Amino acid sequence: MELFRAHIIDVPGDPLRGTAGLRAIEDGALAIDAGRIIDLGNYTELTARFPQAMQHDWSGATLLPGMIDIHVHFPQLPVIGSMGLPLLSWLSERTLPAEAALDNEAAARDAARRFLRSLAANGTTGALVFGSHIAAAQEAFFQEAADSGLRICSGLALGDRELPAPLLRSADQCYRESRELIKRWHNKRGVRYALTPRFSVSCSEAVLEVCGALMREQRDLLFQSHINENQDEIALVRRQFPWADDYFATYERYGLTGRCSVYAHNLHPAPDECERMAAAQVAVAHCPSSNAFLGSGSFPMQQHLKCGMRFAVASDVGGGTGFSLFKEGLAAYEMQRQRDDGVALDPAALLYLVTGAPAAILGMGDHVGSLDPGMLADFVIVAPASDGTLAAVLDAVTTPEQRLGALFTLAREECIAATYVGGREIYRRSG
Ligand SMILES: [Zn+2]
Repeated sequence: MELFRAHIIDVPGDPLRGTAGLRAIEDGALAIDAGRIIDLGNYTELTARFPQAMQHDWSGATLLPGMIDIHVHFPQLPVIGSMGLPLLSWLSERTLPAEAALDNEAAARDAARRFLRSLAANGTTGALVFGSHIAAAQEAFFQEAADSGLRICSGLALGDRELPAPLLRSADQCYRESRELIKRWHNKRGVRYALTPRFSVSCSEAVLEVCGALMREQRDLLFQSHINENQDEIALVRRQFPWADDYFATYERYGLTGRCSVYAHNLHPAPDECERMAAAQVAVAHCPSSNAFLGSGSFPMQQHLKCGMRFAVASDVGGGTGFSLFKEGLAAYEMQRQRDDGVALDPAALLYLVTGAPAAILGMGDHVGSLDPGMLADFVIVAPASDGTLAAVLDAVTTPEQRLGALFTLAREECIAATYVGGREIYRRSG
């Protein structure tokens, strides 16, 4: 048994729908055993209750549930910061050529290691990861993911048009390569498989049909794709699928819906489209820094709430500006502040959108996403340098809300001291 001493903050319910707010324990402790949380409370009381526990003294630091990123691209780390382009040119000029560079195993393995380390170094303990179009690169990614200790869901990116030649695969190849990787990796070594057609722009009806067939063959697969990110993209989809009333109809026809389906962006949905997505129980990954960086638009969060759509905040590296979900929380907050119909997000809502909300969307809400006793011990220690701006702000805070607001505003990769998954330390800041 182990005891972690720190200021503890989590959100056991859904503050956006009024079921709970922050749970905060100043100078608290988290007791874990065999990879699970067995108790949390005041440090002095828990020390008395578990006198034999091995102690980890993080006093002064903040302990939060591990964060979960439901939209992030494995091959795109090197293109973070590619400025000056809207979505379709950013893809064709910068991103897809970089993705094509993972055509040898050494490059793919190195990219996978750096990517996974970046997740852990930012306090992210689980992720739904958009994979490579290259099957050997995706196999290398799965191997590294299984070794990383992180909770990873991912899949081979699929497309048979509007891609550079090295990334194009026929519908038949998409089917065979996906099926092989599903067989090798779905529910193996902590990995889950997510069927991953890139977006309707790059997928003919034959590829979408193949995706529907794979979803019917293996009913517990996750699913991920993109939708309604950029007006030029939406216009292109309209030309490619003249029979479709809207973007979602191109997925709907092939049965690519359900509770474990995650669509990134959805910045420009038609009212009826949003209603149908919610009724189909799909979820949306809201990626605010990417949306701002690529000039794609602003997220209609109020519309999503009114429809009853589930959503969480995600990084969308490399359209997004880095792996920090604190940064994304701040960007989401700022984006809503700019909108006439913006949702008033408070620190509890931000923490929920990067912990409990994504956990539930990925079907892991009974195991991770909060610090309730019985949950798996996925958590992160946030400890800024004592001589920095954040430490100075934290010295002045008087409430847990203020503490958390300061973390979302100022804490970044360098403030993550350690990351734990299932009670195992998978990342420790050096120095
Ligand atoms: Zn994306």
